[in-house]
Amino acid sequence: MKSETVKINNESAKIQRLLMGNEAMGRGLIEAGVTLAASYPGTPASEILAAVAAFARETGASVHTEWSVNEKVAFEVALANSYCGRRAAVSMKQVGLNVASDPFLRSAYLGVKGGLLVIAADDPGPHSSQTEQDSRFFAMFAKVPVLDPSSPREAKEMVRLALELSEKYEIPVMLRPTTRVCHARQNVSLSEPLKLDRPARFEKNPGRWCATPQYLKELHRQLNEKIARLSREPELAPRLTAGDGSQPGTAVIASGVAFAHTWDLLYEMGLLGRADFFQVTMPYPLNRAFIQQINSQYRKVLVVEETSPVIEIQLGRGNVHGRGSGDVPGQGELTPEVIRPILEKFLHLPAAPVAAAPQGEATRPTLCAGCAHRAAFYAIRETFPRGIFPSDIGCYTLGMNLGAVDTCHCMGAGLSQAAGFYLAHKAAAAAVPPIVATIGDSTFFHAGVPALINAVFQQARFVLVILDNATTAMTGHQPTPETGRTAAGEPGTPVKITDLVTACGVKFLKVRDPYDLKGFREVLGDADRFCRSPEGGVAVIVARHPCMLDREARAAQPAYDMFITEDCTGCRHCLEDFECPALKLDETEERVTIDGVRCVGCGVCVQVCPEGAITAAPGERP
Ligand code: SF4
Ligand code: SF4
Repeated sequence: MKSETVKINNESAKIQRLLMGNEAMGRGLIEAGVTLAASYPGTPASEILAAVAAFARETGASVHTEWSVNEKVAFEVALANSYCGRRAAVSMKQVGLNVASDPFLRSAYLGVKGGLLVIAADDPGPHSSQTEQDSRFFAMFAKVPVLDPSSPREAKEMVRLALELSEKYEIPVMLRPTTRVCHARQNVSLSEPLKLDRPARFEKNPGRWCATPQYLKELHRQLNEKIARLSREPELAPRLTAGDGSQPGTAVIASGVAFAHTWDLLYEMGLLGRADFFQVTMPYPLNRAFIQQINSQYRKVLVVEETSPVIEIQLGRGNVHGRGSGDVPGQGELTPEVIRPILEKFLHLPAAPVAAAPQGEATRPTLCAGCAHRAAFYAIRETFPRGIFPSDIGCYTLGMNLGAVDTCHCMGAGLSQAAGFYLAHKAAAAAVPPIVATIGDSTFFHAGVPALINAVFQQARFVLVILDNATTAMTGHQPTPETGRTAAGEPGTPVKITDLVTACGVKFLKVRDPYDLKGFREVLGDADRFCRSPEGGVAVIVARHPCMLDREARAAQPAYDMFITEDCTGCRHCLEDFECPALKLDETEERVTIDGVRCVGCGVCVQVCPEGAITAAPGERP
């Protein structure tokens, strides 16, 4: 991967370390003198905050790290740190920026004091997201400058550049890595953390920090002026990385990881120098002189960028080969396999035969063996075969395989949708089917609480199952407020889900372990009856069982040796309706077997087999 193409204040490097892109950015934040970093976990950005905490410990830097309850809160906490003149960072995945959009847009107008870096990690593809949105586009919408790294090394170097720009222009600056940068590994140079020793001093200025509409026109003018000045910074202009202007009629322009792929391809194809090749490190605001140069000197221009035509739009010419013209696909990740034919067509080369990529065996994603969410979903679907099941974002979205997740929209939506389903049936004077919403513990803190307050207030009636596995499992086991552990591993003040539910006005609240399928089905029935009773409303069940990827939790629960008896008829109920990945069909015997490597010995499947063919004996945990 081509990197080291950005000219940045790079200190003489003495030590190199192999780091993941997210770790490199975390290290960059420590070295740049950040004193507060906040985040909400989300792939591909999750490891950034953990790296900040780890490097703070390693270097002795004094940094407050926090997993906030959501991205909006994280942004606002970091913003206040900046108002006090100290450097701050907030990191999130791209859809997290939607949640933080209110403070993000306003912070561009009001500006900052200490440097404020917003890391919004995009997921072209998408690999693990609801959308393919381009945070660079969001930055352009908000009038916030954005840097687009092509490698982990560049991402780390851009952290410091972004914070310097943020302080110079008193504006938040965005860094937009994509999944391939976040998760790639590269040797990066380490420097000593910057010791800024700034006091926390908030200078009151109501006309700015409380800006009412009378001030906003002037603040908007100042913002426009900042963006115009940034677009004239020669240091931030795109760089000619290959070609020497001897073929000035043809230009290829790329940014982010698409630049790295394009460089590699041009190199492999022996085409470096065939066209002038520019790297855009700051896609917005695009350098004014560069725009004029491209439009006056180049007849043919190809733009390779993920995922929206941010550079293309700013070039403002009609004949760009890119996303807008259809030469670059309008969706999906720009992998080398996608970029190669684009280059061949643009440069009028014969298309090289493409070897088909080896296809791995397709396996459907599924909840882990022993996961208590599976037990909860199985119980919900068996209890309410004709129910409506709105759900949410998390590993529990996989409950759709079990027929217990009908909708999945965005954080907190399942709960609001449950209220919406109830109100739709009520307004139509139709019989209300059982409605069971599911939401994870971390997601409940993130966006479930306001939705629950609203549902109670609007007199909606449905069952809410909060799947409490005591962690944010899907993104790497970050603590929730209930665990009482901070991002730095220190004690915090626990906030209990049950206290929140009660405070929201819920009158039916039970805590149950879904491993007890019979008991869980009974409480589901009780909850549905409460919903339909004269005094009914929202009924909440906290399905509490720790995540089975937590070694300590696994060690703390009984382990069983599992057996399949001759009574197995091969009916497939346990395979298709319960779907534990440790259960397999022996095709020759037409019977189920248990994969002893994957099975965690939870014993729940004993309760699932209608023939009683699965048995358990007390065992020992390896
Ligand atoms: S173990 Fe039970 S549920 Fe599974 S296939 Fe055999 S009889 Fe059916
Ligand atoms: S005991 Fe049954 S449900 Fe639990 S992990 Fe093993 S096969 Fe899966």
